[in-house]
Amino acid sequence: MTEITPQEDIEAVLRRKGIPFTRQRRRVWEFFTGADRAVTITEAADAMRCEAVGQATVYRAVQLFNDLGLLARVQDGRGAICYIAPPIGHSHPLICGICRRVIRFDGEGDLTALEAHLSETTGFDIYGHHLEVYGICPSCRAGKAGDHVE
Ligand SMILES: [Zn+2]
Ligand SMILES: [Zn+2]
Repeated sequence: MTEITPQEDIEAVLRRKGIPFTRQRRRVWEFFTGADRAVTITEAADAMRCEAVGQATVYRAVQLFNDLGLLARVQDGRGAICYIAPPIGHSHPLICGICRRVIRFDGEGDLTALEAHLSETTGFDIYGHHLEVYGICPSCRAGKAGDHVE
């Protein structure tokens, strides 16, 4: 199973790569780990504007975290590229395509049968998977306009 780095290890990951965990990078990281929905880079930059974290800084930090596997890239129902913080342990995100709310579900043993089948038929030694599930959340299904992100 691919180890997705728990949040508290981000400093260790950056240190190993010789990348400083600057105040601004920390702020960007905290923004994404504190968000309850998938967020675009532009929205993150807008939210941090008054904290003197520039859009270019946010953009570069998100790219860096994504390259390091610390933030996952997902899409909403309109194809907007958003980012979400990593899961702790074996879980997967269920993402609302309209309001981008993210629910984490426990993935323990979820694809065991499929992985065993693939291993048998292909001869691969399977060690992990990457899974995102998309849908429309109950609020959006009920058409509550207040929950929508525009
Ligand atoms: Zn929704
Ligand atoms: Zn899984």
